[in-house]
Amino acid sequence: MISVHEATALIQQHTPTPQSAARDLSKAAGLVLARDYNASEDSPRFTNSAMDGFAVRFADIKFTDIQFADIQFADIQADTRLRITDESSAGTEAQSALASGAAIRISTGALVPSGADTVVPVEDCSVGGDTVNIGKFPKQGQFVRKQASEYAAGTPILRKSETLTPARIALAAQHGLARVDVFTPPPVALLSTGNELVNVDETPIGTQIRNANVPMLTAAIRQAGANLVFTAHAQDSFEHVRAALDKATAMADVVVTTGGASVGEHDFIKQAAQALGFETIFWRVRQKPGKPMFFAKRTVEGRTTLLFGLPGNPVSTLMTFLYYVQPTLTRMMGKSAIERSAQATLSADLANMHGRAEFVRVRLEKGDEDPLPIAVPLPKQDSNMLTSMTEADGFVFLDVDAEVQAGSGVRVILFS
Ligand code: AMP
Ligand code: MG
Repeated sequence: MISVHEATALIQQHTPTPQSAARDLSKAAGLVLARDYNASEDSPRFTNSAMDGFAVRFADIKFTDIQFADIQFADIQADTRLRITDESSAGTEAQSALASGAAIRISTGALVPSGADTVVPVEDCSVGGDTVNIGKFPKQGQFVRKQASEYAAGTPILRKSETLTPARIALAAQHGLARVDVFTPPPVALLSTGNELVNVDETPIGTQIRNANVPMLTAAIRQAGANLVFTAHAQDSFEHVRAALDKATAMADVVVTTGGASVGEHDFIKQAAQALGFETIFWRVRQKPGKPMFFAKRTVEGRTTLLFGLPGNPVSTLMTFLYYVQPTLTRMMGKSAIERSAQATLSADLANMHGRAEFVRVRLEKGDEDPLPIAVPLPKQDSNMLTSMTEADGFVFLDVDAEVQAGSGVRVILFS
């Protein structure tokens, strides 16, 4: 049996590097860029107005009244009548350049016509027929967004390893990137095992129970951003498990199985995996819950499939998924797998004397005086007790032989 740290290191060592492909921008949200992109054009693309108003020559505007004491702050009156000679609207340029003594009506985002250097917002103007009176003295160059004032064509704008957030998608769209090179989510297959299991919409008879792991892992795999391509349930026979695993392996880069990985007479995952050419990387980890976890790998014609044989008890299944599988999927999508955690004060003594590292599920409560939240270990932590997950905010990793006193600071790894 190996330690949690050894298991983590072995999984990392055997995780294939992320695969990249070109994707439509419209289908790339949340994915990670596989290369850098430079600006295809200046930003702004052309010099344009930041306001609806009038494009003018600053030199044409005359002020009438200055409060010298506070010249920087006062509104300085102006009184300049200009002829409105043309219009520049978003998408439609003015036909003529701006002449001296004239103004060109302009809208936000419209090209600032040649000859103009300043925009006076409509709020500072009064229009009468084909003339406009500028009532407030402008600052030279105000409300003019100069071409390339943000960045010039050729500037790096999107970088490899960045996630395509809505803002980055907008930036990519601005630069005409209808397709982008991204790391593709790995295809994942999910296989549950057990003669005792019925579906959620069926009524268990006798000692049957409902299959909780398939809905749970379906959600978890999707939440991890991976691509669930195959789900099956196998009865506890070597032939059933082998056939289902064979199909799963043909379709997926990562196969996640639940149950059937232990030492029981009805546990066939390891045997079936070996029969299909998987190499066992490890079986059994010094951890609680999740001891019977199995990890194997197969490479056929350059294509690698990882197999995570998770235990069947739903708490063990989910803990091992969250601790081992989710970060692997994250890495395979080109992201760094950083845990979300919170510092908290432990409410009760914890000691680990049973030779296996423990994932102690805790609830976080608001402290009275303590600015940190209080981490309260949940009382029922057996691997079949799902409420130890549903009522928990996260877990404390308690290594073999660790002792932590009540009142000590602990790091809680958060579930969401
Ligand atoms: P196993 O690892 O197959 O021995 O399963 C361990 C325990 O988990 C047994 O009590 C199973 O009934 C239970 N179990 C296995 N698979 C599932 C599942 N898909 N949903 C709910 N419980 C399960
Ligand atoms: Mg079983």
